[in-house]
Amino acid sequence: MEKNIAVIKGDGIGPEVVSETMKVLDAVGQKYNHQFHYTQILMGGCSIDAYGEPLTDEALAIAKSSDAVLLGSIGGNTSTSPWYKLSPNKRPEAGLLKIRKELGLFANLRPAYLYPELADACPLKEATSAKGFDMIIVRELTGGLYFGERSTKEVNGELVAHDNLIYSESEIRRIAIKAFEIARVRRKKITSVDKANVLDSSRLWRKVVNEVAKDYPDVEVEHMLVDNSAMQLVANPSQFDVVLTENMFGDILSDEASMITGSIGMLSSASLREDKFGLYEPSGGSAPDIAGKNVANPIATILSGAMMLRYSFDLNKEADAIEQAVRDVLKEGYRTVDIYKDGDKKVSTSEMGDLIASRV
Ligand code: NAD
Repeated sequence: MEKNIAVIKGDGIGPEVVSETMKVLDAVGQKYNHQFHYTQILMGGCSIDAYGEPLTDEALAIAKSSDAVLLGSIGGNTSTSPWYKLSPNKRPEAGLLKIRKELGLFANLRPAYLYPELADACPLKEATSAKGFDMIIVRELTGGLYFGERSTKEVNGELVAHDNLIYSESEIRRIAIKAFEIARVRRKKITSVDKANVLDSSRLWRKVVNEVAKDYPDVEVEHMLVDNSAMQLVANPSQFDVVLTENMFGDILSDEASMITGSIGMLSSASLREDKFGLYEPSGGSAPDIAGKNVANPIATILSGAMMLRYSFDLNKEADAIEQAVRDVLKEGYRTVDIYKDGDKKVSTSEMGDLIASRV
């Protein structure tokens, strides 16, 4: 198989972790006879330095014409970098918002998996973490409260603010279908999270999810209120497989889920549209505090590369091979500094990339 990948190394640790991911993808290509063609484009601070804007139309056109986008991370130190003296629509993050919007990426997938080898980093009680967990949060990314009309006005001598939370049936249906498709290739269980005891938008959400469920009789569906979900995530995370939810609830719950894994450098993320196209990136940021030192953990980005193979290219056994290689390397005791403890074998970013590529 031949695929064109637009590569955005970005800022901070981005270039370091993306290079290791390309190394691992090339090892997969060699073993399974695929060719991945990379076209590098600039986005974020590096694009501001080169072209005066965070994402040029030319770079966007290359991303649009590719089969998938691999992103490191963008941005710098928000207190000291000159990029943050620019107006908000000229800053590094504006590039990210533009590419997500222009590519129509409405579904955000964030797996949260507790590696047994890293269980010490999990802040939950030992009895809870011992059971492990392996879930994926499917968050609607382009509707709801963050995209509704908003205003702040003076009424009767005081300020009154409002934000609209709007969802249409079609917006709910397309994200629900995405979640059911993912559940089908996992443990076939969906927890749909809403606030249907209060919100009309949640009642519509629940109705549409139940309608979509009829086409997936092999997938078990439960509905859970968001406040209970927040509690269940820390009380009994092993009960979750696919968690389907709207934009704001997903924003909050996905951060909570990543926290209980204990290590931001391990967490991948994918943003998808209706077809197979997607943008793949680590959950963390550009980590300017450790950039250029060859110490960042590349695993989050490497696992995002595995998600690209699985969700955009349908290369499931190749994705499995990367995930297994990561588990093997952890089992053998290799750790970058963020997940290192006494007795482990400390390795650099590039050594970790080499190890994973060699285990593929
Ligand atoms: P951050 O995620 O970059 O860093 C938080 C902490 O986690 C830091 O101590 C960092 O060293 C550590 N860390 C993050 N990734 C790591 C890795 N792979 N290996 C080891 N340690 C890692 O968050 P921040 O400091 O709040 O933000 C820094 C910059 O990143 C800001 O400009 C922010 O806007 C940007 N950012 C970008 C994205 C993105 O590109 N999608 C996402 C979040 C933040």
